[in-house]
Amino acid sequence: MLKRILVTGGAGFLGSHLCERLVEMGHDVICLDNFFTSQKANVMHLLDRPNFELIRHDITLPIWLEVDEIYNLACPAAPGHYQYNPIKTMKTSLMGSINVLGMAKRCRAKVLQASTSEVYGDPEVHPQPESYRGAVNPIGQRACYDEGKRAAEALFMDYHRMNGVPVRIVRIFNTYGPRMHPYDGRVVSNFIRQALAGEDITIYGDGSQTRSFCYRDDMVEGIIRMMNVADNFTGPVNLGNPEEFTIRELAELVVELTGSRSRLISKPLPPDDPTRRRPDIALAKSKLGWQPTMPLREGLERTIAWFRSIDISHYRPPTPRY
Ligand code: NAD
Ligand code: UDP
Repeated sequence: MLKRILVTGGAGFLGSHLCERLVEMGHDVICLDNFFTSQKANVMHLLDRPNFELIRHDITLPIWLEVDEIYNLACPAAPGHYQYNPIKTMKTSLMGSINVLGMAKRCRAKVLQASTSEVYGDPEVHPQPESYRGAVNPIGQRACYDEGKRAAEALFMDYHRMNGVPVRIVRIFNTYGPRMHPYDGRVVSNFIRQALAGEDITIYGDGSQTRSFCYRDDMVEGIIRMMNVADNFTGPVNLGNPEEFTIRELAELVVELTGSRSRLISKPLPPDDPTRRRPDIALAKSKLGWQPTMPLREGLERTIAWFRSIDISHYRPPTPRY
């Protein structure tokens, strides 16, 4: 059945690919974005499609639309971006959630929240299952994002229990791919950009910390499956690639794949940087029949090809990390 679908944060890295997929499926797609961390170029190719509409709007402010489904992705996601204005980040998670949940309640729409592995903080349980409640520093630099996303999950479940709003919560682990903002400060974009420019590759700390990297297309497939899951299953469900790498291994792989002569250098580890992270995806496998298919090497090759194809001067300069 074709639906009217709102994607908040729809011009972003994940949102733009999600919009593309939904437009291809024939749905009527409304992309809402304030372009804080993205640009219109990400969705330019969709503008002449009859079933695609773009609205510049800030989701912390109410908006009146009629829709059947909402994917709530609006929120800066990279540490450098969400720490740029931490108060605004928290507002976006909280007021943005309240606004989309109110809309869902009024329209009897289904609404999916893009939550994050950051709700687990610097985890003491490894790999992380959904039942793990996390170890988040509530007053640290990452709290605006982590606690904002945790509060958003609480709001989603309360609207579900109190008002019967059909909700879906996905906890997204590190995802990479074409259309990442080249200056977002995330590890994959930093390393590729630095390697291609022949600059030093900045490893924070000793590079022994781990992450698990999921390719964009796998992630968007998981998100769409979760929206369409049967049985009123609300989640939260982890979505991510369970293959775990140290940051140093990632740097070495990027150097190899780009053929770069960049050196690996050490920079201070930012505060509260999680030591390790790997999703337990047993629930996603059983409920959604989903698991990632793209190996890191191939996903990086595709991402590097995209970075080579763009004119980096079209992107806004980096936001400060601290
Ligand atoms: P992104 O920064 O590319 O996308 C976020 C989008 O939201 C941007 O287009 C931005 O302009 C928009 N936005 C921000 N604040 C807004 C506001 N107040 N009103 C309207 N639009 C606003 O990041 P992404 O990686 O595509 O992340 C998308 C979602 O997935 C985010 O909610 C993020 O927290 C979540 N997530 C992503 C990852 C990842 O590794 N990519 C991991 C965990 C969670
Ligand atoms: N990192 C790094 N060099 C960089 C950027 C990031 O070593 O230039 C590290 C960072 O300290 C963290 C990991 O890479 O341990 C992933 O960072 P990212 O900002 O991509 O996302 P996070 O998972 O920390 O939210």
